[in-house]
Amino acid sequence: MGKKHPTVCELCGREGVQTTLHHLTPREEGGTFLPTAYLCMPCHQQIHALFTNKELVLLGLTTVEALRQHEKMKKYLKWIRKQPSSKVPRTKTAKGKKHR
Ligand SMILES: [Zn+2]
Ligand SMILES: [Zn+2]
Repeated sequence: MGKKHPTVCELCGREGVQTTLHHLTPREEGGTFLPTAYLCMPCHQQIHALFTNKELVLLGLTTVEALRQHEKMKKYLKWIRKQPSSKVPRTKTAKGKKHR
């Protein structure tokens, strides 16, 4: 089987998340063999929603640290860190009986 993805996002630091591989330097910009980072879905989507592959390189956002320092990402990270890593599961237990 393939390598197991870590469950900690390298950008927002949330644990217990599903991570996807992000090429810090996009492959289209020559980053095929350059460093990658495991990011949770929202972080990964946010990066690609805010920046084009060219902008990531032009703005020097090719390290996790640089992404964290970017003004737009800072706002996003502040928000995402407050979000639960997964939707709160609706657990029904016998102990949780309602009193009306
Ligand atoms: Zn994240
Ligand atoms: Zn990516």
